[in-house]
Amino acid sequence: MVLSIFVNMDKLKSQVIQSDFLFETKNNNSLTKEEFAEKYALKAKDIKDFHPINFDMHVLLHESKNPLINIDGNTLSLKKTKMTIKDQNSFSYFGIIDNNISNKAIITVRNGFAAGTFFLNSKEYNIITSKDMQYYLLRVDNNSNCGNNSEGTENIFPVIDKNTAPVLKYTNVNSCNMRILVLYTPNAEAYFSDILNSIEHVINVANEYLGNSLVDETYELAYAGLTNYTEYTVGDGRYTDINRFRIDGDGHMDEVHDLRDKYSADVCVLLSECQSTIGQCGGIAATIDANTPSWAFCLVHAETWGAVPNRLFSHEIGHLLGCRHDNDGTSTPYTYGHGYHYINGQTEFQTIRGTTWGIDYAPNFSNPDVYYNGLVTGTSNWNDCGRVCELEIPEKVGFLQPENNVSITSTDLSNVLYGDIISEQTVTIQNAAITDGSVLIIRSDETTISSNFTVELGAELVIKNEAVHGCN
Ligand SMILES: [Zn+2]
Repeated sequence: MVLSIFVNMDKLKSQVIQSDFLFETKNNNSLTKEEFAEKYALKAKDIKDFHPINFDMHVLLHESKNPLINIDGNTLSLKKTKMTIKDQNSFSYFGIIDNNISNKAIITVRNGFAAGTFFLNSKEYNIITSKDMQYYLLRVDNNSNCGNNSEGTENIFPVIDKNTAPVLKYTNVNSCNMRILVLYTPNAEAYFSDILNSIEHVINVANEYLGNSLVDETYELAYAGLTNYTEYTVGDGRYTDINRFRIDGDGHMDEVHDLRDKYSADVCVLLSECQSTIGQCGGIAATIDANTPSWAFCLVHAETWGAVPNRLFSHEIGHLLGCRHDNDGTSTPYTYGHGYHYINGQTEFQTIRGTTWGIDYAPNFSNPDVYYNGLVTGTSNWNDCGRVCELEIPEKVGFLQPENNVSITSTDLSNVLYGDIISEQTVTIQNAAITDGSVLIIRSDETTISSNFTVELGAELVIKNEAVHGCN
């Protein structure tokens, strides 16, 4: 049990660093792609290339070093732009590669498990940690499909035209973050070595995308936990799954609604084995532009290569914000809310809302003010999802406000892997327990714990006395 956390920077600095390399590729690859996929329950068809690596995460903590990485035979250097440190085995590192601000590195470490993403010349590389603590560098395919196009669910639930109507916009005066709840199915969980490390990482990458898109807003994880649901496998099952996730009282995943209230989550994401008849299934959003909390639900495919697919996670949330695909001709809710696909001779890329299979992408939403390796990534009249995010995230941040008084019972903690409870005044916990491996954070004016609250060995409880405000 951890009650308080401090970081001894002197200790971190004095650590002996063997080399300047964050990772180097090992010469012998003892497994074939198929054996690798079978060993780690991954899908070989999504992996373009993979290598075991010598990975030393602690070089990232050394203030005076610019860590080196080795990708495709090239040695490149990292330069830190931001870092958050919990302890020497749990931190997040953000940097640029070889002094090129278009090329990014994001590394999320939790208890020695590492998830990493490198954007290098429109290509995405990922670091994963296997269950036996071996580290691998993967180059993955961009070959998954999302179900939201102009023939998607949004035609059943008409989208409001916000081009001429005034946009009801909250003002995010307290710099609140958009809070995300993640439920995962048992089938999804089976693909991960440390699913919380992977979820924390995908949120780090999603925030990097927002920053790259010049969007001055941030996501934060409110809750992550298991839901006892088995995916519907008949036909385009994801439509059934997203409806069951969204609808209250239908007997499927209904706990999401209480959890969402308790943990003040604005947007809900289901990580599942996305079911579809259209080939590789990336996910689906309940609607384009969720105008009420009851529509802010999406599903993201979890079964690729043991990481949460970075692009798809932000892509589906982008639909809930009001963004459309690059190839969608619909001009509501925003005429300018489309992804961007650039092609000129040999040079081709898309933004994260692009839909073309197998081509590389720039790590940002379309935006005419953002350049990727010298090329513009949007247009002001049709391809500016960054502007949609800037307008809409403050509205979604207002969906669920922190309560004055939050009462936590065993139901609220029964499946918690990560919970961040916020309250303007008091939090009371009674007749409850958190189990080995789970993390509970409580932020409020005052916290009262009754005598029968148990924190198991290996669980982590953090209580912070801090002022929590409403968000608008
Ligand atoms: Zn989509």
